[in-house]
Amino acid sequence: MEVKNKRVLVVGLGKSGIASAQFLATRGAHVTVSETRSQSELKNEIPALLERGIAIETGGHGERTFRDQDLIVVSPGVPADVSQLVRARQQGIPVIGEIELAARFLKGKIVAITGSNGKTTTTTLCGEVIASSSQRTLVGGNIGTPVILLVDDSTDDTVNVVEISSFQLETIETFHPHIAVVLNITPDHLDRHGSLEAYTAAKARIFENQNSSDYSVLNLDDPGSAALRSRTKGQLCWFSRKQELKGESIGAFLRGDEIYWRDDKLDQIVMPVSEIPLKGSHNVENVLAAIAVGRLCGCDIQSIRDAVRRFKAVEHRLQHIATIRGVEYYNDSKATNVDATIKAIESFAGNIHLILGGKDKNSDYTQMNNLLRARVKRVYTIGSAAEKIRSHVQPAVEVMPCMTLEAAVERAHDAAKSGDVVLLAPACSSFDQFENYEHRGRTFRALVERLQQPAAAAQERR
Ligand code: ADP
Repeated sequence: MEVKNKRVLVVGLGKSGIASAQFLATRGAHVTVSETRSQSELKNEIPALLERGIAIETGGHGERTFRDQDLIVVSPGVPADVSQLVRARQQGIPVIGEIELAARFLKGKIVAITGSNGKTTTTTLCGEVIASSSQRTLVGGNIGTPVILLVDDSTDDTVNVVEISSFQLETIETFHPHIAVVLNITPDHLDRHGSLEAYTAAKARIFENQNSSDYSVLNLDDPGSAALRSRTKGQLCWFSRKQELKGESIGAFLRGDEIYWRDDKLDQIVMPVSEIPLKGSHNVENVLAAIAVGRLCGCDIQSIRDAVRRFKAVEHRLQHIATIRGVEYYNDSKATNVDATIKAIESFAGNIHLILGGKDKNSDYTQMNNLLRARVKRVYTIGSAAEKIRSHVQPAVEVMPCMTLEAAVERAHDAAKSGDVVLLAPACSSFDQFENYEHRGRTFRALVERLQQPAAAAQERR
């Protein structure tokens, strides 16, 4: 793709928008960026853009800005049906996302991972698995480093492991992963996609440009993922915690307490489940997916096993924070939907003090009631969804309204006894009270660490 002297508009100045604008300007394009936030909100970002000669429109998207462009690169946060974009498309202006832009320049193979939950964990683990077999590996995408920033480091023998969200898949054209993984599909982001069908269709686009020399990796245990088999074009590779693979099937599966890889009608043992250093059966699924990806990339079993054994929970994903007077504190701030919270609860046998709440995503919290009844001692609600959550989960479980995370941590700390678990897995997004889930997770950690200090001091005195 040649962008030199082309007029390119970048819509939305998130991380990937900024990276795209800079990338395009460096390659000689005439770049304009358009963003709804105000100039003062963007005061940290603007100087570097101006320095590169990038024109900036803030406080909204002007109709004229979208005219006379050769290309529009749209950020994943911008809905596809914004009127200016619709009109631009009608005028024949190509509208693509940052992933598509990157795909046109990226060298090497692409391993792409999507799903409702587990993307970041699995992407990180896949990166470590592949790197441990001494292959050149780059990791990016929705996980943090925009894929466009990998371009300059990529070479023909690089494996680019990229986390891709459903929003990012909406604006691909030629993006072609050699290995594409759909971990699971459960309702999320329906406010933006409109329906589960539309959300599933967006996820399925990960297979769109694959062919029979590629691999499509699906979760046999997840009906949403497994149903995509009819939409794949690559060779199917399965992973399953619940069913052993047989016959011609290839993939990773559990037999008893051991993980196997099946290929060429041959089962090979990879490792015992007990060696996985992460909590929860959902993480077994992530490990199975990463083992499958590792094998498809030609990694030997021993290096896969070593990489899995060394792996540590990604921050804010069921991450152990502290043990205070026998009470375990876990930060799963990234549990921003009901399914992730269910998985978090299932990771503990019981005695859970669960902090729930934040900004509601039109979720049905009653789905948790059986688990809440069986494993949760008390729910502490925070944020704007608190009242809705209370009305959905009572009387399955006792609810203590707390408003703030600070109050919730204190109340849970007061009530928890040795052997209990205090778990932040809020089933909501964080934007009502925090900048993002990382901010919420860091706040939780700081509050727990504050509790720790008197306990440590008391221990010293003893
Ligand atoms: P994503 O990038 O898809 O949001 P993460 O790895 O960041 O995935 O995990 C998001 C949340 O989902 C965390 O709360 C985590 O504990 C939970 N989770 C991780 N893997 C899975 C899985 N395979 N199925 C369901 N929930 C999961």
